Amino acid sequence: MHYEPVIGLEVHVQLNTATKIFCSCATVFGEEPNSQTCPVCLGLPGVLPVLNREALIKAIRAGLALNCSISQYSKFDRKNYFYPDLPKAYQISQYDKPICGKGYIEIDTDGAPRRIGVNRVHLEEDAGKNMHSDDSANRVSFVDFNRCGVPLIEIVSEPDIATPEEAYQYLLKLKSIMKYLDVSDCNMEEGSLRCDVNVSIRPKGTTTLGEKVEVKNLNSFKAVKLSLEHEIARQKELLDDGERIHQETRLWDADRNETFSMRSKEEAHDYRYFPDPDLAPVIVDGSFIVEIKDAMPELPDVKIRRFIEEYALPRYDAGVLCAVRQIAEYFESVVREGAHAKKASNWIMGELLAGIEDPERIGECRITPTRLAKLISLIDNATISGKIAKMVFADMLESGEDPERIVESRGLKQVTDVSAIESVVDSVIEKNPASVADYRSGKEKALGFLVGQVMKLSQGKANPQIVNELLVKKLTR
Ligand code: ADP
Ligand code: ZN
Ligand code: MG
Repeated sequence: MHYEPVIGLEVHVQLNTATKIFCSCATVFGEEPNSQTCPVCLGLPGVLPVLNREALIKAIRAGLALNCSISQYSKFDRKNYFYPDLPKAYQISQYDKPICGKGYIEIDTDGAPRRIGVNRVHLEEDAGKNMHSDDSANRVSFVDFNRCGVPLIEIVSEPDIATPEEAYQYLLKLKSIMKYLDVSDCNMEEGSLRCDVNVSIRPKGTTTLGEKVEVKNLNSFKAVKLSLEHEIARQKELLDDGERIHQETRLWDADRNETFSMRSKEEAHDYRYFPDPDLAPVIVDGSFIVEIKDAMPELPDVKIRRFIEEYALPRYDAGVLCAVRQIAEYFESVVREGAHAKKASNWIMGELLAGIEDPERIGECRITPTRLAKLISLIDNATISGKIAKMVFADMLESGEDPERIVESRGLKQVTDVSAIESVVDSVIEKNPASVADYRSGKEKALGFLVGQVMKLSQGKANPQIVNELLVKKLTR
């Protein structure tokens, strides 16, 4: 039987507020365990949580960017469960009245862009972190509450995702948007972006949803893709063997590249949700939402469209440049400095992105937009060839020097003086009688070799067009 997968993602994004969601403790990552705690986030009796305004604003920003409706009335609920990293034995979350309702994310696929529905975005607090000693003689566990109470938004997709690749594209776009908004650093290693996947399969062409399996413990986008591929194959095999899929939660084992069962899936009623009596409902008026909307930056999808129109860039280029806000800004600066857009794009997508470690810190690169524009103009006005330009580029990256100074001091100026080139051409013709004979007997390829020899002798500085013309002229005489 032919099956098709159905995928939905639940993504937790840690908001980059200075303080926690319901108290004024700091949220710095990697500090001394339990140094950023207070009675509120430790869940001591008698304390009262107060909502962090900044967290609310960032959640609304995120919702607006994901095209979600924003609820003017939302509230917080207690999600009850016991775990050592959760001192209150409940997590404050949003159940039936989340801050953001339905929206969508546009993803890039081979064909036309596709919309993946967002079911909701809600605010909640993070839990702490358990740490287990790996000393088998002394098996102790510790708990660090620094993360307890750090604000999260959970973004729940509709089951609209059709392939592991689409899931990957969804995450890329989601991350790109969150970073544009500056609501999170989305650092997966530090846990500020976490993703759980839900996947089921169904006979191709049918519409009812199959039983889904949830996979957790995915610590990279690659793991998301791999685990989905694995899980889809596993479910197909089960169904083909006449077995049933049981709704459950599985964990991804990155070392063995497989999922294993963790527990049968819990239901909402297991959590005994009820409204948190310590927190007033959140009422936001329209003007507050408009104010947040007005302060939003241009988002990747809009930027991509503008880049295609304004700079006549291929969609691919626009996508690469706009994936990271800082790259897009860098590109626009280079163009403002007078460079041709497609040429600027080629240099950035090729040499520059390969030459720097962190695309987000392109602004600190030694090759400033002004200097890259200058380098491009040196090629445009035939001062240097494209090939020499790559050398100059590498030099600029290392020395931080101005391209004109590099060209000058290293004597890299292109030779356009015909008589100077002519003497090199003559000596190449003289030294390579076999190739000359080949060319004259109709082997066009020999010309390439001879051009190469002239370029080599001139250390790449001869103007290739003049070299070509001179050679052809002399050889066909
Ligand atoms: P639960 O109550 O089990 O958490 P939800 O309805 O809240 O389930 O959905 C959780 C996630 O699972 C969402 O991203 C949703 O799109 C996805 N999902 C729901 N049903 C299915 C299904 N049958 N197959 C794949 N994904 C699904
Ligand atoms: Zn606190
Ligand atoms: Mg759910």
